[in-house]
Formats: sequence, C-alpha cells, structure tokens
Amino acid sequence: MNPWYAKAAVLLAAVVMVAIRAPHGHRSRKIKVVNSRKGTLEIVLLTFAWLGFFVPIVWVASPAFAVAEFPLHPAMLAAGVACIALGLWLFHRSHADLGTNWSITLEMREGHRLVTHGVYRRVRHPMYSALLLYSLGQALAVPNWIAGPSYLVVMVLLIALRLGPEERMMRETFGKEYEEYAERTKRLVPFVA
Ligand code: SAH
Repeated sequence: MNPWYAKAAVLLAAVVMVAIRAPHGHRSRKIKVVNSRKGTLEIVLLTFAWLGFFVPIVWVASPAFAVAEFPLHPAMLAAGVACIALGLWLFHRSHADLGTNWSITLEMREGHRLVTHGVYRRVRHPMYSALLLYSLGQALAVPNWIAGPSYLVVMVLLIALRLGPEERMMRETFGKEYEEYAERTKRLVPFVA
C-alpha cells in the first residue's frame, strides 16, 4: 500500500492536535503560576516529547529515515487511524474539562481547581491516556521502524516518570479532596489501571 496514506494521516493528526491545544495554551498562559515543579527532569522530558512528536513529521517531509522503511499493511493503517482518532477525541475532551487548570508542565495556577468531572470522572490522567492512544496509533500506522514508535517511546517515558511527581503535587495542594478522588478513580484506563 502507498505510504502516502500514512503520511497524510500523520500530517492531519498533527495539525488537529496542535489546533486542539493552541487556544488552551494561549488562555492558560495569561493565568499566574503559583507553584512550579519544572525541574531538570521535566525540561529533559519535554524536550524529548517535542523531538518524538517531530520525528514522524520529518519522516513525512524527507527521506531521512528511508533505511527503516517497511511495506504498509492496510490493516495496520486502519488500526492506527482508529487509535489516533480516539486519542484526538480524548485529547480534545480532556482539554475542555481541564480548562484553565491545564499546563504543559507540572505547575499550579492561581485559583487552580481540582477537576473531577467529564473524562476526569473515571481516570485521573485522561490527557496522558489520549497521548498514549495517539502515539500507539502512529506506531501502528507509520511503516517505519524509527518514525513509527518514536512518539510512543517518549510518551511512555514521560508519563512513567511524571505520574508520581504530578500526583504528589496534587496531593500536597488538594489534600483529602485528592485522596478521595484517587480512591474512586484509576490512573489511565477506566476500571483497570
Ligand atoms: N495528568 C492530567 C493533566 C495533564 S496536564 C491528565 O493526563 O489528564 C498537567 C497539569 O494538569 C498538572 O501540572 C496539574 O497542574 C494539572 N492537573 C492534573 N490533574 C488535574 C485535575 N484533576 N484537576 C486540575 N488540574 C489537574
């Protein structure tokens, strides 16, 4: 199958993802940060996340990873596109529910509220679930051993290393309210984990 189908899917997905996030970034930048945990690890992880996001775009636009190419199978493309679509829907919903409480890194803003409604009702990290679905979708749809899994690898790393510090920060800020919320929810997959 022509790899341009996968290339078109990757480009469209990246545009939709940026379009979902851009207004939230613009809005939350205007609200004062009152507590930041953006240490060296966070800076390294965020840099890797950006690199992992751009590798598939470089694959679309150049022959840089031609050595790692393999034939595209229609079933892999279909499964990948389904994961990406579900991931983008959840990415949109989690931004909408988090509203101005969203930050790209670990920080609390003025008037920060604990969000427990919408897609936050069953899991504490739906935005990370969305990013995992999206990056898993790319790993399936992109017929290239480097560009396919690049975003998934960095997302798994970022999420694995961030969940602990993020939940610690939330516990310190919201105390019993967060404890109770954590008791009735899972982290990433409803009813599972
Ligand atoms: N981990 C969440 C949010 C990711 S954005 C998710 O995957 O959906 C990261 C920022 O969101 C954190 O720095 C924290 O300030 C904020 N945050 C995380 N969970 C929150 C919640 N339930 N309510 C309000 N803010 C939250």
